[in-house]
Amino acid sequence: MNFLVTGGAGFIGSAVCRLLCANPVHTVVNVDKLTYAGNLTSLRQIENHPNYSFVKADICDAATIGDLLRRHEIDVIMHLAAESHVDRSIDGPADFIETNIVGTFQLLSAALSYWRGLDGGKAEAFRFHHVSTDEVFGDLPFDAGVFTEETPYAPSSPYSASKAASDHLARAWHETYGLPVVLSNCSNNYGPFHFPEKLIPLTILNALHGRPIPVYGAGANVRDWLFVDDHARALELVATTGVAGESYNVGGGAERSNLAVVRAICDLLDAIGPARSGSYRELIAFVADRPGHDRRYAIDATKIRRELGWKPAETFESGLARTVRWYLDNEWWWRPIRDAKYAGERLGVPSAA
Ligand code: NAD
Repeated sequence: MNFLVTGGAGFIGSAVCRLLCANPVHTVVNVDKLTYAGNLTSLRQIENHPNYSFVKADICDAATIGDLLRRHEIDVIMHLAAESHVDRSIDGPADFIETNIVGTFQLLSAALSYWRGLDGGKAEAFRFHHVSTDEVFGDLPFDAGVFTEETPYAPSSPYSASKAASDHLARAWHETYGLPVVLSNCSNNYGPFHFPEKLIPLTILNALHGRPIPVYGAGANVRDWLFVDDHARALELVATTGVAGESYNVGGGAERSNLAVVRAICDLLDAIGPARSGSYRELIAFVADRPGHDRRYAIDATKIRRELGWKPAETFESGLARTVRWYLDNEWWWRPIRDAKYAGERLGVPSAA
C-alpha cells in the first residue's frame, strides 16, 4: 500500500513512518512543514529506506498535495499534521485555526478530487484517516465516566476546539461527498522522540539538569497514557482495516494523575539515573494551574480492541521505564532541541496534553 503521512516529522507521525517502513509492502511519503515541532532526526533510522521519501510542504497547499497523491498513486492518507500543544494554543490560537481547521479542509479537498479520479476497486479501498484527540470530548469528573465513540463533543481549549472542528469536517466529507474517511481519537501519548515541552520529557530533562519540575495546580489532573508505538500500531490498523465512516477511540487504559506520573519518573531516575544527593522528587515544584484545564480524560477502547483486534503491548510502568531509559541514552536527539533558542521560554512550562 502507498501511504501519504502528514506530520511525519512530529512525535507520533515519526513513529508511524518508522512502523510502516518496517513492512516491505508499504511505501511512505512523509509530508511535513517542519514547524518547531517537526524534527527530521527522529527519522534517521529510515531516511535512506528505499520505500520512504520526505517532502517539505504545508497541508494548506492543496495543489502540491494533489500532485503528490497522483504522482505516488496513494492508497491511504494518514493525517497527523497539526499544531498540537495546548499551552501554545492559549497564547496564540491563530496557527491552530490555520493548520488544524483550514489545513484539514485543504487536505480533504485535495483528497476528494484525487479519489474521484480513481477507478472502482482503488476508489473503494482508498482511505483518508484523520488522527484526532480525546480532548474533543472535554472534561470528565474525577470519579466517573469514560469517553466512548458516542460521547458528545465539548472541547475546552483552542487546541481541542480546532481538532473538534477538523473532526467534523472529516466526517462531513464522508457523509456529504462519500469520501472513505476513518477517524481515531486517542489519549495522551508518551515515549521516545517526544518534544521536550510535554510533561514526561520535560520532567525527565529538568530532573537530569537539577532544575525544578513544574506541576500544574496540585497535580491532580488525570490523563490516560498511551505508549506511542502502541498508538502507531493502532493507527496502522484503523487506516488499513477500519470501516469507512467509523471512528475508533484509542487509549492505554492507564489513568494516572500528573503528580503520580512525575513521581514515577523521579523514582525511575532515582533507580537508574545519575546519582544525586537526595531523591529527584525534591525537585517537584507546584505552579499556577492552566486556564480551562480539563480535570480528567479516560478512553473506552473496547471498539478498536473488539473490532480491529488491537491491544497495547506496554503497561504504563513498562512504557515509562523504556521512555526514561531512552532519554538517558539519546542525548544526541534531545540536546539540540533543549538548547535551541525557540524552545527557551516554553521549556519551563509543563503540558500533559
Ligand atoms: P507534533 O506537534 O509532535 O507533530 C506535528 C507535526 O505536524 C510536526 O512535525 C509539524 O512540523 C507538522 N505540521 C504542523 N503544521 C503543519 C502544516 N501546516 N503542514 C504540514 N505539516 C505541519 O504532534 P504529535 O504529538 O505527533 O500529534 C500528531 C497528531 O496526533 C496531531 O493531529 C494531534 O492532534 C494528535 N494527537 C496527539 C496526541 C499526543 O499525545 N501527542 C494525543 C491525541 C492526538
